[in-house]
Amino acid sequence: MFEEPASEAELQDAVLRAAEAGQRIRPAGSGHSFSDIALSDERMVSLRRMDGLIEADRESLRARVQPGITLNELGPALAEHGLAMENLGDIDAQVVAGAVATGTHGTGIEFKNISAQVDAMRLVVGDGSVVEVDGSDAGLLRAARVSVGALGVISELTLRCVPLFTLVRTDEPRPLADVLEDWDGLAERNHHFEFFVFPYTDTALLRTCERTSDPPEPLSARDVWIKDVLLENAGLGAACRLGRARPSLIPRINRGIARSFGREVRKDYAYSVFANQRSVRFTEMEYSVPRAAGPEAVRRVLDLVKRRELPITFPLEVRVVAQDDSFLSPAGGRDCAYIAVHQFAGMEFETYMRAVEGIMRSLDGRPHWGKRHYRTAADLAPAYPGWDDFQQVRARLDPGGRFSNDFTDRVLGPVS
Ligand SMILES: Cc1cc2nc3c(=O)[nH]c(=O)nc-3n(C[C@H](O)[C@H](O)[C@H](O)COP(=O)(O)OP(=O)(O)OC[C@H]3O[C@@H](n4cnc5c(N)ncnc54)[C@H](O)[C@@H]3O)c2cc1C
Repeated sequence: MFEEPASEAELQDAVLRAAEAGQRIRPAGSGHSFSDIALSDERMVSLRRMDGLIEADRESLRARVQPGITLNELGPALAEHGLAMENLGDIDAQVVAGAVATGTHGTGIEFKNISAQVDAMRLVVGDGSVVEVDGSDAGLLRAARVSVGALGVISELTLRCVPLFTLVRTDEPRPLADVLEDWDGLAERNHHFEFFVFPYTDTALLRTCERTSDPPEPLSARDVWIKDVLLENAGLGAACRLGRARPSLIPRINRGIARSFGREVRKDYAYSVFANQRSVRFTEMEYSVPRAAGPEAVRRVLDLVKRRELPITFPLEVRVVAQDDSFLSPAGGRDCAYIAVHQFAGMEFETYMRAVEGIMRSLDGRPHWGKRHYRTAADLAPAYPGWDDFQQVRARLDPGGRFSNDFTDRVLGPVS
């Protein structure tokens, strides 16, 4: 059964109906996870009708929002109040509760993931009651921020914001060896730093962003369409389709793409610069490793692809994120590098991803909850110092496992 409550009261009723039917119920966001994290064979509740900005306060830099507002609705809504999210990931189609629940992140050594911007939340739990989560019970907040949807349904969030700001984003090609050599320097000199590198190539597309209070200088809608839709997405899509049809050409195709990298600068409000258009279909795995291990992780993945001649048409995306204190955060307790690997739709990905997972595990890696991975509760538990604390909160808030699904059975195990 699929329900779309329009208010917290309707949400409470939906949870109670699930309890009466003895069924499990799963909150769903906008369906932008690559795993089966949000799926349910029993009941599913979408919060897309609870999509409002309730209030925003320039003085306290706080905003109260409903869980189903998407990040691309939130950016302009906060901007009307002179506010912004301090950091975002590279798309904005997610609902805010979905991004929070999976520890969705952007890049920048001073910036934590989106869940760390949550000050408080309201959570509808298995008996239909509402639990207020705030800093008065630090353990509860540390569990509820990155919850994988396993504690209850978030019905409201209070977000810590920053004054509206402009971002100057520069893309430029650089030799991969130089980027890896200057790993710490690039991370430290730039507010936001990331890079993309295609397997079989040795050129990185470096992306750095600086925060400024200058007024934005937005591109025209036509220029954005030409650069993002026509050149970037249509060009990449065509290259991927050719690679899928003729895998032996992939190394040459990737080298051609890397040669086409050029310098580009954008200057606009942060919420529109962080987010990109992604219309080429792919699947993805992403791992966090301790930040110092980033270069080694990149070298080993590229070497793996070359050595095993794997047909990979998509780049690695490499970012840095500040540590936070959520029990299940992949960045919990350690500054990290995030290494994302992708495969084009319709191409076999498991061989690549299992091998990458082996590399990441040897580097103490933790998987992104919203992306593909093959881990289970037994081997994830030792990777998270706060694992038992999370499980205790879970047993307290959801003793009957009402909010579990096959995914949580695998990655969290039963409620105990
Ligand atoms: C093209 C693309 C680009 C991406 N880029 C990034 C990126 O830059 N950085 C990054 O970190 N990730 C990125 N992701 C991953 C994505 O941010 C996460 O998977 C995110 O959780 C998806 O949000 P969603 O709204 O689609 O949630 P869903 O996938 O629908 O759900 C995700 C989780 O949130 C839970 N949830 C949803 N609503 C609630 C609620 N109200 N209460 C409690 N739990 C809830 C669900 O139960 C589930 O556990 C990307 C994904 C795609 C497809």
